[in-house]
Amino acid sequence: MAPQFDVIVVGAGPAGSTAARELAASGARVLLLDRAAFPRYKACGGGIPRRTARLLPFPIDPVVEDQVSLLDIAWRGRYRFVRDSGEPFAAMVMRERFDALLLDHAGRAGAEFRPGSAVRSLEIGQPSALVRTEDGFAASAACIVAADGAHSPVGRMAGLGQDLAECAAYEVEVRAPGPRLRAARGTAFIELGYRPWGYAWLFPKAEVLSIGIVLPPGQAGTMKQRVGAYLRRLGLDTAAVAIARGHKIRFRRGGERIASDRVILAGDAAGLADEFTQEGISYAIESGRIAARAVLRALAGAAPLTAYQHSIDREVMPELRAARLIASMFYGMLGRFPAPWMQATRALPYLWDAFFAVQRGESTYAREVSRVPLLPALAAHRLARADV
Ligand SMILES: Cc1cc2nc3c(=O)[nH]c(=O)nc-3n(C[C@H](O)[C@H](O)[C@H](O)COP(=O)(O)OP(=O)(O)OC[C@H]3O[C@@H](n4cnc5c(N)ncnc54)[C@H](O)[C@@H]3O)c2cc1C
Repeated sequence: MAPQFDVIVVGAGPAGSTAARELAASGARVLLLDRAAFPRYKACGGGIPRRTARLLPFPIDPVVEDQVSLLDIAWRGRYRFVRDSGEPFAAMVMRERFDALLLDHAGRAGAEFRPGSAVRSLEIGQPSALVRTEDGFAASAACIVAADGAHSPVGRMAGLGQDLAECAAYEVEVRAPGPRLRAARGTAFIELGYRPWGYAWLFPKAEVLSIGIVLPPGQAGTMKQRVGAYLRRLGLDTAAVAIARGHKIRFRRGGERIASDRVILAGDAAGLADEFTQEGISYAIESGRIAARAVLRALAGAAPLTAYQHSIDREVMPELRAARLIASMFYGMLGRFPAPWMQATRALPYLWDAFFAVQRGESTYAREVSRVPLLPALAAHRLARADV
């Protein structure tokens, strides 16, 4: 007979480890499955805005490789300027260490972790669902949290999270010489100028520079070549590349189904990433917490598991919609009027001050959007016609 748990969490990234930790801390019997052995690499810039770190009940200092307070912005190497947040707005981490820290806390709270467990099938029954892994293991639980990333095989098996929008991203970890590593410290570099939207980044870490690009899905085939061009502009084209990997990011824009009465999706599986910066770690952690709350209520018979979707609609979607509006206006103006728009954003402190305030957790995209008269109406008009 398959072992029985209250909840099986599939995927031990930020969404899954957070859900597992909060559930186990509340006394639930939690099985956490991941196909990988940890620590494992994840293609990611590893930019953790300060607001993200604040969502966790423990410090992330042991895995922070740098703190950035400067933002260096350019348009294809031109119109370059630097903005200063005055204090760090984001921490820089390598995901293998960051995710291992979150997983460690889930284990300490009492979640049982089984690495090397790729989920192969899901049988939804009453009163529980049965999960089988590639290596022949099986377990059942009343609730399943699918936190299995942007491809979300479990979401597919449950018929959830379908028809989400997506984009393509590509990451290289560059072993730059010591002076280059030191020169980049404290600064996040952003290169704009990709149409209809997208950007390249350079984020400083202790031993590498994390360099990558995010673009609309139709341009996935050009990412390697464009990162190569960015590396040339940075003078890093001869530096050794330790790892190069692509991954997609998905976006929930409307009421796509992410919950049934046995299965809920969290993090990238549910498309909870923002369309302005394409960040997803904070929404993964936030949705992991909301998922834990929903599961506990369902286990107690206080609410159906499907109530999770209403909570995400109420607590997360307003921010993702606001980020999409900002993306639409920002990249729209940049695409049409690159030089004047770069000059305008350089001259107007409001834009970057607001960005820093959101990153530090002192404001939200939704609040910033509501402060600009006519922005929601203008952006809604553009969104009705545009790609972003
Ligand atoms: C190139 C790139 C750069 C990015 N940069 C940033 C950034 O700087 N800041 C930011 O906030 N966000 C960034 N993001 C987005 C961020 O990486 C994701 O939003 C975040 O990882 C989502 O966390 P998650 O827990 O939902 O999923 P993941 O971190 O993807 O974790 C999913 C887990 O599920 C496991 N899994 C998958 N399938 C199965 C299966 N069948 N069985 C068992 N386990 C399975 C995987 O092994 C994995 O461990 C970036 C994304 C990309 C692609």
